[in-house]
Amino acid sequence: MFARLAINVPTITNLFDYSIPAELEAQLQAGCLVTVPFGNQTVQGIIVQLIDSPAVENPKPIIDLLDPAPVLTPPQLGLAILLAESTLNPLASIVSLMLPTGLSQQADVLYQTVDGRPQTVQDGPSSIVNRLLKLLNERGALRGRQIDSHFAKIDWRKTASFLVKKGVLSSKHVLPAPRVRPKYLRVAQLSVPPEEAEAEMPNLGTKQTLARRQRALQFLIQQPEAINLSWVYAETGCNLADLQELEERGLIRLFENEVFRDSLERIGNQVNRETSNQVIRLTPEQDVALQSITEHVTRNLSFISHPSSFLLYGITGSGKTEIYLRAAEETIKRGKQVIILVPEIALTPQAVRRFLSRFPGQVGLVHSKLSEGERYDTWRRARSGKLKVIIGARSALFSPLPNVGLIVVDECHDSSFYQSEPPYYHAVIAAQEYARLCGAVCVLGSATPTIEQRFQAENKQLIKLELPRRIVETGLPPVQVVDMREELKNGNRGIFSRVLAESLAETISRGEQAILFLNRRGTATYIFCRDCGTVLKCPNCETPLTLHLEDKAHLLCHHCGYTRQRPKTCPSCQSVQIREFGLGSEKVEADVQAMFPTVRTLRWDWDTTRQKDAHEMILTHFSNHQADVLVGTQMLAKGLDLPLVTLVGIVLADVGLSLPDPFASERVFQTLTQVAGRAGRSSLGGKVILQTFMPEHYAIQFASNHDVNGFYQRELEYRRQLGYPPYAKLVRLEYRHADPLKAEEESQKTATRLKVKMEAERRHQTELIGPVPSFFSKVDGIHRWQIIVRGPDPVSLLRDMKLKDWRIEIDPISLL
Ligand code: ADP
Ligand code: ZN
Ligand code: ZN
Repeated sequence: MFARLAINVPTITNLFDYSIPAELEAQLQAGCLVTVPFGNQTVQGIIVQLIDSPAVENPKPIIDLLDPAPVLTPPQLGLAILLAESTLNPLASIVSLMLPTGLSQQADVLYQTVDGRPQTVQDGPSSIVNRLLKLLNERGALRGRQIDSHFAKIDWRKTASFLVKKGVLSSKHVLPAPRVRPKYLRVAQLSVPPEEAEAEMPNLGTKQTLARRQRALQFLIQQPEAINLSWVYAETGCNLADLQELEERGLIRLFENEVFRDSLERIGNQVNRETSNQVIRLTPEQDVALQSITEHVTRNLSFISHPSSFLLYGITGSGKTEIYLRAAEETIKRGKQVIILVPEIALTPQAVRRFLSRFPGQVGLVHSKLSEGERYDTWRRARSGKLKVIIGARSALFSPLPNVGLIVVDECHDSSFYQSEPPYYHAVIAAQEYARLCGAVCVLGSATPTIEQRFQAENKQLIKLELPRRIVETGLPPVQVVDMREELKNGNRGIFSRVLAESLAETISRGEQAILFLNRRGTATYIFCRDCGTVLKCPNCETPLTLHLEDKAHLLCHHCGYTRQRPKTCPSCQSVQIREFGLGSEKVEADVQAMFPTVRTLRWDWDTTRQKDAHEMILTHFSNHQADVLVGTQMLAKGLDLPLVTLVGIVLADVGLSLPDPFASERVFQTLTQVAGRAGRSSLGGKVILQTFMPEHYAIQFASNHDVNGFYQRELEYRRQLGYPPYAKLVRLEYRHADPLKAEEESQKTATRLKVKMEAERRHQTELIGPVPSFFSKVDGIHRWQIIVRGPDPVSLLRDMKLKDWRIEIDPISLL
């Protein structure tokens, strides 16, 4: 017997064959996590497949099995292979996404000074030599990744090899053991019928011990289940010796129980307050939607090309979540499990609580603030089928549920479903694929699906279900567009237009709440005229020119590299008010306080939410009306239901519109539409005031009319004309280097290689955009260059190319 393995070493993409030693034969199967020899190291690997004949002669044997049960289910393995192929990521990097941190470990190198004695080097010590020796002299043996944390961005490994050769340091390959393991608690439980225990009460000990032991035994008689020893001590004042004595006499049993580390407790107390079990009668539209979904859950159409993915398209408050809950219920009834993906747990507490109260004890939460132990235990409970519903951000998709029947992606337009760090992948696309592999149903829900999701629905790759009306017919709030150029002409140079300032005053005086929203994606580095709204554009490509971050006297086109001097006056109207726009939420908050000294403000942005549970606190604070005005950024756009909010002020809608990115309009449109939906969710009604320097831009126009269909048509036409998705596929290649010349040189070289290959393969419909410095051309002192490949199938062009050190993004959601 032999096995084919994916090796957990970042740079290795091939699969390798190993033999299975006789003693492991009965236990090994696809999906098992094992250790194997690899070169002169020991590494972790995942069995992808058991095979009869290996591709090499005399393969080495597998060393050990790390977890008796497979760590990946068959559909998970299928998904990993599929994703690795379609995203050009190494299989091991996708597999790592599926394993709880602490379980998967990469091989490392352990360094120490020879004989463990302090060492010094005489001849020409560089600063790195000194620092490395000092560290190892002081700390003893350290692993490579531990040393990394002391040498930010400095390549110390070359120095280390040099010192090993000189005989000053020794090194050896190691594989750290998994850091996570199950947690056990000592418990006690009555082991005889209560009457029998009662009968023994008088004879439990001497004067000093009798009362304590009696209390302990009495307490245990009352407990229906095994109970934590520390509880028994706390409740009765007894000690371990007392309990051991009771055990000796055969009255109770002491043993260890596995406990699940669970982060639900924090949210759990709030669940009861929710109106959980009130009977809701579905509207006819909801009924139709639910019927089609459950029908597909029942039919179990695994691997059939028939689409089982739905787009549930309905405005906020139209009852989508209610459908998720019912569909989940139906799925669980059929013995299957459910995955619910949300943009971020902390930002969607209301939806999460509805699931917790509808399925008590059966829900597991996966989010970034879980401890390693909590994550591991949630993962194991999912694997055992004890949890029926997993809710979480994009990585929750990779929970090892044994029989997935339904996958919901709520707010499926949200950009957080795209992982913008390696390994790059899109969880919405992965969810659809995974559902197919599991024979499950996938439901994508949104009020503002992306252009591509809509396009899929129009082309029958997704089944469209519509919920056009709100449950409580409040209608959507009216949006008033304020042209900030007019405000300037009338001498108002402040952040707030007069109408926004007045509305704010009225709202507060009525005892209602307001939200002030800043659309602040990307720093404001483009230049525009505050009098006429003109944005300076590249004469070659019509994309907005942006400020050079290093040299602010120059403007640059990030598509073709065109540069020009920054002008002193506007080329259209000769105004001198031509400048970059910068505005932060602190400034907005300060201005509100200056205008209304008694108003209670609250700020919700990345600065104020670094701490644990900060989102929850700010939200609770605001929904309890402990503040009147909430000032915030993107986070406000998520699915909040705040009935007292009757005014939403969008302080500047157009930031982001002029970024050199084909997806910029869509992003702004979605955000504005979502934010506008926050107002008027109750019978109090409400309105939105949208301030802009570009009132004529179509994204602003359609958003202010809540016209999702109109925007879709217009944007799709723009994509078609310019050849952007869904009419072409994009791949973004990014190269990073500390030396800008190296980055440029490598980019030019790679671009040439690509062109030669495109020519050779006659890919006349494929083209390169770039190479150019990326929009954010310098991040943490590292220079970024990029090449965009656009065409019908750019992935196949890149598949067998060696692009070491390049970051490759398939279907990127932004080209900045
Ligand atoms: P969405 O997810 O589309 O924003 P929800 O499912 O949260 O919509 O529904 C909005 C509100 O209406 C919730 O308070 C929900 O409990 C309630 N609701 C949903 N469906 C119905 C229904 N058929 N009848 C009455 N109330 C409903
Ligand atoms: Zn002008
Ligand atoms: Zn250009």
